[in-house]
Amino acid sequence: MAHAYEVELAMKEVLHRGWYIKGQQVADFEKAFSSYCNTAYCVGVANGLDALILIFRAYLEMGVLKPGDEVLVQANTYIASILSITESGLVPVFVEPDPETFNLSYQSVKEAITPKSKAILAVHLYGKLSPMQDLVKLADENGLLLIEDCAQAHGAKDSIGMKAGSFGHAAGFSFYPGKNLGALGDAGAVTTNDANLAQLISTISNYGSKKKYFNLIKGVNSRLDELQAAILNVKLKYLDQENRRRREIASLYSDSIRNPKIKLPIWDQSLEDHVFHLYVVQVEDREDFIAYLDSQQIQSLIHYPVPFHHQEAYKEYKNLSLPITERIHQQVVSIPISPVLDDVDVMAIIHALNGY
Ligand SMILES: *Cc1c(COP(=O)(O)O)cnc(C)c1O
Repeated sequence: MAHAYEVELAMKEVLHRGWYIKGQQVADFEKAFSSYCNTAYCVGVANGLDALILIFRAYLEMGVLKPGDEVLVQANTYIASILSITESGLVPVFVEPDPETFNLSYQSVKEAITPKSKAILAVHLYGKLSPMQDLVKLADENGLLLIEDCAQAHGAKDSIGMKAGSFGHAAGFSFYPGKNLGALGDAGAVTTNDANLAQLISTISNYGSKKKYFNLIKGVNSRLDELQAAILNVKLKYLDQENRRRREIASLYSDSIRNPKIKLPIWDQSLEDHVFHLYVVQVEDREDFIAYLDSQQIQSLIHYPVPFHHQEAYKEYKNLSLPITERIHQQVVSIPISPVLDDVDVMAIIHALNGY
């Protein structure tokens, strides 16, 4: 593990202090991460799914959202984005992504807005920022909440330096171990500039109480703990450096993989709006490609093999036709992009892909 020694020291400190919930480490992390994202507030929570659910729950509690309101979301996202909507008693409206970016586009969202639409949940999928200026404009024009799912995009920023998590009314982050900023267990956070929202989420996530044993609302237990916060305080310092390395590897791939059978992701190397949580290529015959990668000892993964509307859990949507989403799910393959890969590893992968 990277930074193992420093992480170990931080964990020992928590152990020696003997204070595990709602202490200094969480307070320090919330301050550091809101400052990193350029937002006024950050509230640590138990995981990324809860971060999104708590945002919706708080807006329902405030009366800004009502059960049955529609939330626009890209259909090709990870299941957690969609679960956060349905779990909240809201109605997801599935928007086909832009096939070049995998994200929402101005046009696709505009066409999907109905009188019942109350929010957009924009997922910065694979680490690439959604077109936030367009989405902010659409949200403003149509009186919609704009919520960001930043679980894959810690540190992604646009051409004027605005960071993921600071564009919308609120944003949910996951610090699941495999994310760009990962804890050693489950962890998550909400960022926002709205003081009331931050306060309410903090209250809901702590049994609905601000003062111990005095409960204002029927809350839940979804807290970031001291141990994970201590680990995140160490790892946050290295996030930019690791994102830089991810982009460096992505540049090597994008400059040197030359194979008409492999479609590379489209991105602008002069920007930092993509932090490459995943480097996702597309191929026609995925089974054949993965068998080839296996034969070359190259690890690959599929994000994601089955779209939500073909999942047993969402069988009520099984008759939806989402051709772009379906094609993406059939063709995507993620190749290695860990910041710990060295150039020799990367060159070997490029060589193998060019030989396919
Ligand atoms: C990982 C992830 C989540 C959920 O995060 P957890 O911490 O695993 O609950 C939500 N949305 C997206 C896009 C993710 O990749």
